[in-house]
Amino acid sequence: EVAQVIDVPVAEAVKALLDLGIMAPAGAQVDETILIALGEAYGIDFEYEEPEEEKVATGRPVFHGKHMEPRPPIVTVMGHVDHGKTTLLDYIRQTNITAREAGGITQHIGASTVTYEGKNIVFLDTPGHEAFTAMRARGAQATDIAILVVAADDGLMPQTKEAINHARAAGVPIVVAVNKIDKPAARPDRVRQQLSDVGLVPEEWGGDSIMVDVSAKTGEGIPHLLEMVLLVAEMEELRADPTVTPEGIVIEANLDKGKGPVATVIVQQGTLRKGDIILLDTTWGKIRAMLDSRGRQFLKAGPSTPVEILGLTSVPQPGEHFVRVDNEKSARDEISKREQEKRESENVTAKRLTLEELYSQLKEGEIPQLNLLVKTDVQGTNEALCAALEKMGTNEVGINIIHRGVGRIAESDIMLATASNAVVIGFNVRPDKNAERIAEVEGVQIRLYNVIYDVVDDVKAALEGMLTPTI
Ligand code: GDP
Repeated sequence: EVAQVIDVPVAEAVKALLDLGIMAPAGAQVDETILIALGEAYGIDFEYEEPEEEKVATGRPVFHGKHMEPRPPIVTVMGHVDHGKTTLLDYIRQTNITAREAGGITQHIGASTVTYEGKNIVFLDTPGHEAFTAMRARGAQATDIAILVVAADDGLMPQTKEAINHARAAGVPIVVAVNKIDKPAARPDRVRQQLSDVGLVPEEWGGDSIMVDVSAKTGEGIPHLLEMVLLVAEMEELRADPTVTPEGIVIEANLDKGKGPVATVIVQQGTLRKGDIILLDTTWGKIRAMLDSRGRQFLKAGPSTPVEILGLTSVPQPGEHFVRVDNEKSARDEISKREQEKRESENVTAKRLTLEELYSQLKEGEIPQLNLLVKTDVQGTNEALCAALEKMGTNEVGINIIHRGVGRIAESDIMLATASNAVVIGFNVRPDKNAERIAEVEGVQIRLYNVIYDVVDDVKAALEGMLTPTI
C-alpha cells in the first residue's frame, strides 16, 4: 500500500528496504521503522500513527463444531483468455484418472475431486472469475484458493488483473501458475516482474506470493503446483465438522430430461446422506441419489465433497445455500412462506449501497469503508483519479478501490460491485446495455462523470456524511 502511495513498484520498495537492511516482504505489516526508512529512501516526510485493530471480512463461511477435521481445498482456476486455464484443468483431471477408469465416461457436473499424494483437491470446472463472482454476488463463496494462470509468452493482461482483483476482493489466496514455459518465447521472469508491479511479489524475491512454472501441455511443474495448493490449504487451516447438520452450496443446476432437476452441490460442513431432506433458497427436495463426475453413487458425502444430487422439486440457482431439515413439511412450509414474502416485496426493487446511504449500513464500532470500482476511458486518467480518491481516505473513513480498469462498464464489473457492495464510478465511460440492466436489477449505483473535481467532491460529501450521520 505504501508503495502504491509513493508510486514505486512493490518489488523496488522491497529492495530499497533490503538495501537498508530491513526484511519486509510485500504485504508485511508496516511499522514505524519501515515507513521512516521508505520515506528516507524516496525523500518523503511520513508521519506514523498506530493503526487501529483491523477487521478482515473475507465473506467465507467460518464453521465451528466440536469435531473439526481438515477438509480438502476448493480451487478455482482464473486468468486471461487463452492463457491455458482449460488445458491446465484438463491435464490435472486426466492424469488423475487411474488406468482402470480411463475408459469410462466422465461427465461435467461442475466440480471434480483429484487426488495428489493421498490428499484431495476439489476443482471447480468452470474457469474464470465470472462464475466465481456471480456466486459471491448471491452471498455464496465456494472457493478457498485461486490458481491464477499467466502465460509466460504473453504476460500480465487485462483479465489477469481483473482476476487478481476479484480474488482479492473475496479474500481468497492466490497461487500463480506461470504457464506455457515449454514455449521458446516464454519469459517467466518478466511475468514475475509484472506481477510484482501489481503487488504479487514472488517468494523468491522476498514477497509472499507462490509462483510455479508449469506447462499445461507437457505437464512439467504441475505436481509442484498441486503441492503448493495443498501447502496453502494447510496454512489456511481449512477445517469442517462432519458430524453437524449438513449444509453447503449449489455450484450448478439444470433440468435433465430423464432425471428431472439435478444440482451439483458442495457440502461445506456435516455429512449429507441419501434420503436426507434439504431446504435450499428457492426450492427443496429429498435426495434420491448422489453421484460424482464418474457416475459413482454415493450414500454419504462429507465436507468439500462435490456431488450431483437428484430429487429436488425444481431447479435452483448456482450459489444457493442448502441445509438439511427434519421433514418434508417444514421444507415445504418454509418455501411457500418465502414465495409469499417474495410476492409481497416484488414491487420494492432491490436496493444496495448508495453513496448517501452508506452510513446507515454500518454496524457499530466498524470503521466505515467506502468500496469503489473505478472505470475510465484511458489508463492515465485511471491512475490520476484513483490516486486522488485514495488520498481522501482517513483513519476514520477508509476508501477501498476494489477494482480499477479501462473501458466500458461491463457486466463483470457490476457483479463484482454487487459482491463487494461497491459504488461504480465511470469517468468518460458508460455502462453497456447488459451492465445497465444488471445494475438495475441488483440495485448497484453507477455514477458517471467527466470532471475529476466532481468525482472528488461527491466522494468527499459521501465521506463526510459517513462521519456525521444525518439520519
Ligand atoms: P483458456 O482460454 O485460458 O482456457 O486457454 P486454453 O486452455 O484454451 O489454451 C489456449 C491455447 O493455449 C490452446 O491452444 C492450448 O493448447 C494452448 N496451451 C495451453 N497451455 C499450454 C502450454 O503449457 N504450452 C503450450 N505450448 N500451449 C499451451
